Amino acid sequence: MNSFQEKLYEHHSQVFTVDNVLHQSHTGLQNVLVFENRLFGRVMVLDGIVQLTERDNHIYHEMIAHVPLMAHGQAKRVLIIGGGDGGTLKEVLKHPVEEVILVEIDSEVIELVNRFFPALSGRSFEDRRARIIVGNGLEYVATTDKTFDVIIIDSTDPIGPGEQLFTASFYARCRTLLRRGGTIALQSGAPFYQPQQLDGVCARIASCFNAVRPFLAPVPSYAAGMLALVAAGDNHKALRPTMKILRERHQRLRSDTIYYTPEVHRAAFTLPPRFARPGAGKMGGPVYPEPTCHV
Ligand code: SAM
Repeated sequence: MNSFQEKLYEHHSQVFTVDNVLHQSHTGLQNVLVFENRLFGRVMVLDGIVQLTERDNHIYHEMIAHVPLMAHGQAKRVLIIGGGDGGTLKEVLKHPVEEVILVEIDSEVIELVNRFFPALSGRSFEDRRARIIVGNGLEYVATTDKTFDVIIIDSTDPIGPGEQLFTASFYARCRTLLRRGGTIALQSGAPFYQPQQLDGVCARIASCFNAVRPFLAPVPSYAAGMLALVAAGDNHKALRPTMKILRERHQRLRSDTIYYTPEVHRAAFTLPPRFARPGAGKMGGPVYPEPTCHV
């Protein structure tokens, strides 16, 4: 294999040169490919879609982890759904949290990442605060009696096993597991190519949360470059605290961030009108439906 072509979108694809194929298999749940590219380093692909690269994964992981955790400010217990690569876990563990539960459906992702991307998770899988569960995130949230300060949905796209993590009923269940002041964050694809996905995700989350705000992160290895993430909680202001609050909270981190800063946090919520108001009608009508699920 000299090149890998990702064909996620109908009229555009991206091609990576492949210097070396390190691994290729079907896990029983999804196809996995790990290869080396001179620009991005090692690249992991699931079901034909690039999940992460050595070179730029920190942007995704730092933003999906630190934005909700910094917005919350006092999170003690965190739930990560998906995230078997350990990158989000590593970032969450930089906060003074007491327990992080990670529910990953595919144990082979964890094994392969430990083998081919050891720096990505660092030693976070062995951290005494981390508890790793191999299972379906949907089933976990449906059955657990634990509650959380922050929930992070670090899933694949809504294709294959990740699809069930994009439904209104899943978000509603997550809402019931959040403690007072709780915050949720998740990835919602490339907004330039998939504006309907972002609209749909925001509308479904808005049926259970008072405050829903999309934010952006540039991830060069994702086709279209710009990734949409969504944060939701009790109120809009809490999702984007003042610079003073963010700076105080940032100082409490146990180690540095490469991409995330308080400035980047606030700037990430400053969006062009189309992405800032997904679902807004032509006449500037209601941005999201009123919440219908109160807990
Ligand atoms: N950076 C990412 C991206 O490109 O979207 C996410 C990467 S992370 C590897 C996504 C993980 O979510 C995968 O390891 C996948 O196995 C896991 N996953 C998908 N569906 C799941 C489910 N229903 N429950 C738990 N984990 C799930």
